[in-house]
Amino acid sequence: MPPEAQNSSDSSDLKALREENGRLYSVLEANKMLSSSLDLGLVLDGLMERAKEVTDAEASSLMLLDEEKDELFFHTVKGEKSEAIKKIRLRMGEGIAGWVAQHGEPVLVEDAANDPRFSNRADQASSFVTRTMMCVPLQLKRRVIGTVQVLNKGNNQSFHGGDLKIFSILANQAAIAIENARLHEMATVDGMTGLYIKNYFMARLSEEYRRARLQNRPLALLMSDIDFFKKVNDRFGHPGGDRALVELASVIKETVHRLDSDDIAGRYGGEEFCVLLPDSDQSRALEVGELIRKNIESRPIPIGNEEAHITISIGISCLPAHSDYVTDTEDLIKLADEALYICKDQGRNCVALYEERA
Ligand code: GH3
Ligand code: MG
Ligand code: MG
Repeated sequence: MPPEAQNSSDSSDLKALREENGRLYSVLEANKMLSSSLDLGLVLDGLMERAKEVTDAEASSLMLLDEEKDELFFHTVKGEKSEAIKKIRLRMGEGIAGWVAQHGEPVLVEDAANDPRFSNRADQASSFVTRTMMCVPLQLKRRVIGTVQVLNKGNNQSFHGGDLKIFSILANQAAIAIENARLHEMATVDGMTGLYIKNYFMARLSEEYRRARLQNRPLALLMSDIDFFKKVNDRFGHPGGDRALVELASVIKETVHRLDSDDIAGRYGGEEFCVLLPDSDQSRALEVGELIRKNIESRPIPIGNEEAHITISIGISCLPAHSDYVTDTEDLIKLADEALYICKDQGRNCVALYEERA
C-alpha cells in the first residue's frame, strides 16, 4: 500500500474510533442519568433525546403497550412534529412499531414508502415524511412492553448496524427505567386511592422529620378522617364507601399538587389520610387543611344513580409550634390524631391545630 493510502485509511479508522467513543460516552452519560432520577418522564425524555443525537436522527419516540387493548400509544416524542403525533394509537401488528411489538425483533427500514409493514397514519397526523427508520422492542425478559424508534438519519443516509447496537442499549435502559418505576409504584402506592401506602409514607415522614430537626425547618402533618363514614357504608354499601374514599383521595391529590409538589399524601388507615407539608408552618398547614376540607365538602360523589356528600375533619401537628411535645415521628402522629378528636368534639367538618387539653 502506498504511504498516502495507508495514512488516509489510518485517519478514517481514527475517525470511526472517535465516533464510536463519542457514542459510548453518550450511553454512559445516559446511564448516569438513569441512576440519578426517579422521575420516569425525565429519564425517558433524556434517553430519547440522546437516541436522536447519537444516531443522527430527525425524530425519536417511545411507545408503550396498553396490554388491555393490545395497542401501542406514544409516551415520549422528540422532534419538531411531536405534539401532533401523540394522539395516535397503533394496533398490535400495525405499522413498523406494531410489527416490532408483535414479533419482539428490531427492524431497520431503508425505504419506508416501499416497506409493506409501514403504516403512514402517524406521518399523516403530523405532516411528517418517514424515509428511514430503526425500531427496537422494549423488552423485559421476553415480554414486550413497548417500542422505541428513530426516524430519518441525517444526510439521507440509512441507519446501520452500529446505530442499532447503540440504540438497543438505550432501549434496554429505557425498559429497565420503566420497570423500576412500575415496581417502585407497586411497592409504595395504594392501589385503590393512588396515595402512598402507610409504610412508605412513614419512611418519608422520618426523613422529613430528621431534616426539619437538623436544619431547624418547619414541618406540618395533617391527618384527615371522614365524618360518620359508617353511615356512608350503611347507605351506599362498602363499594359505595370505597368510591367516596377514591374521590377524597383525588381531592387531596389535586389540592396538594396544585399548591406544591413537595407535599406528600398517604393513606394512613382505612379512611384516614395524612398529608405531610415539608417547610410549612402552622398557618400554611391550616390553609391547606381548610382548602381540602372545603373542596371535598362541595364535591358531590356519584355512586350508582345517587350522590353522596361527605365531610372530613382534619387534625394538625407541626414544628416548631409543637416542638416541646414532640420527640419523634410517633409524637407528631399522636398529636395530629388528638387534634382530630378536637374536631370531632367540636361537631366535625372542621380543621384544628393540636393544643393541650385541660
Ligand atoms: P367519625 O365521624 O367519628 O369518624 O365516624 P365514623 O363513622 O367515620 O367512625 P369511624 O371513624 O370509627 O369508622 C370508620 C369506618 O370506616 C368503619 C369502617 O367500616 C370504615 N372503613 C374503613 N376502611 C374502609 C375502606 O377501605 N372502605 C370502606 N368502604 N369503609 C372503610
Ligand atoms: Mg376513623
Ligand atoms: Mg371517620
